[in-house]
Amino acid sequence: MFDLASQLLARKKAGLYRSRLTSSSPQGVHVEIDGKEYLSFCSNDYLGLAAHPQLIHAICECASSWGAGAGASHLLGGHSEPHEMLEQALAAFMGTDRALLFSTGYMANLAVLTALVGRGDVIHQDRLNHASLIDGALLSRASLKRYRHADMQDLQGQLANITADRRIVASDGVFSMDGDLAPLTQILELCRNNGALCYVDDAHGFGVLGDKGRGIVEVNNVSCRDYDDGHLLSMCTLGKAMGSFGAFVAGSDEIIETLIQHGRSYIYTTALPPAIAAASYAALEVISAEGWRRQKLTGLVDYFRSACRQRNIPVMDSSSPIQPVLIRDNDQAVAIAERLKQLGLLVFAIRSPTVAAGSERLRITLSAAHKETDIDALLDALANIMEDLSAIS
Ligand SMILES: *Cc1c(COP(=O)(O)O)cnc(C)c1O
Repeated sequence: MFDLASQLLARKKAGLYRSRLTSSSPQGVHVEIDGKEYLSFCSNDYLGLAAHPQLIHAICECASSWGAGAGASHLLGGHSEPHEMLEQALAAFMGTDRALLFSTGYMANLAVLTALVGRGDVIHQDRLNHASLIDGALLSRASLKRYRHADMQDLQGQLANITADRRIVASDGVFSMDGDLAPLTQILELCRNNGALCYVDDAHGFGVLGDKGRGIVEVNNVSCRDYDDGHLLSMCTLGKAMGSFGAFVAGSDEIIETLIQHGRSYIYTTALPPAIAAASYAALEVISAEGWRRQKLTGLVDYFRSACRQRNIPVMDSSSPIQPVLIRDNDQAVAIAERLKQLGLLVFAIRSPTVAAGSERLRITLSAAHKETDIDALLDALANIMEDLSAIS
C-alpha cells in the first residue's frame, strides 16, 4: 500500500542505505563482529568507561537490591533513591541548583524545548545542531531560526531583528559530526544582552572537556551565576563519555521545576532503571578520580593530528576526540570505510545529506583506551588507501 519496497530500493541505489553490525563483545577499542576482531574508531565511549569494572560492579550491586526496572514514571512512584542521589551529585558537580535525569538525551531536548517555549516564541539554532534539538523545536511549535554554523554575526542579526516574549538560543557544545566547539562565551553574551536563554547540548563534551570534565561550560569558564539567574541551561548525556545511559539537564531551580511540571517526554515515560543511575553515579566518581583518562585522551588527539599532517591526511579542524577526515564524496567515503574494515579497522563513513554535499567524511573518534600504535595502524592504512584511490590530491 505504501510501496515501501521501492522507497527502500531508491535509498539503496542512492548509496544511502544504512545497516547495523552486531557485535559479539562488549564496547571497547577492540570489538568482535561476526567472529572477527576489529580495532574500533567509532565509539562515543571516549574515556573507556562502558566496560569499566567500577560501573559494572555498581550496576550489579544496585540491581540486586533495587531490581531491574523502575516500574513507573518519576512522578508516579518510579523515582527512587539511586535517581535522587545521582541528581544531587550531578548538580553538585556542575555547580547548579538542580539537575534532572532523563531516559535519553533525545528526550531531554524534546522536554526542554517544548516545556519552555511554544507558539509565538522563537528558537535560534546553529545549522549543525543535533537532530534532537531540531525535532524538539518542531514539536514546540515555536518559530525555528537556524543561523550559520558558529556565526555570531548571523545570530546577532537574528536576535536584533526578531522579537518574541521568549527566546532560546540552542547549540551543541561539541558538534557531533565536525568535532569543533561552540563559541559558548559569545553565545552567552548575546543571550544576556538580548534577554534570551542559552541552551547548550553538551552530549560530546561532558566528561571529556575541561580539567574536571565539566565540559564546554568549564572550558569557557562559565560562572554558576549564569545558571542561577536563568540565562543558561545545559544538557549532558550519560551514554557517551560516561559509559552509561541516560542524560540530565542542569539549571536553576525554577527551570528544573518547570521541566518536571511541563516536560512531556519527562512526565509520560518510565523512569530509568535505578541500576543505570547507579552506574552513572559510579562513572561520575571515576571521571573525578581518574583525571589521567582525560589527559591521555588529549595527548592522543594531539598525536593523531600531527600524524595526519605527516601523512597529508585531510583531518578537519577539531580539538575534541571527534576527528573527521574529509573525503568529499559519498561513494569514496563508503569505499574507504569498507577497505578499512577488511583490514580490521572500524570507522564509519558519514554521507550527505547527514552532512553537506561535498563534505562527506570519515568520522573517527578517539578513546583514552587507544594506544599511539593503534592510531599509527589506522593512519598508515588510511594513507595507503587514499593514495590508491588518489583521494589525497
Ligand atoms: C547523542 C546526542 C544526543 C542524544 O543523546 P542520547 O542520550 O543518545 O539520546 C543529543 N544531542 C547530541 C549533540 C548528541 O550527540
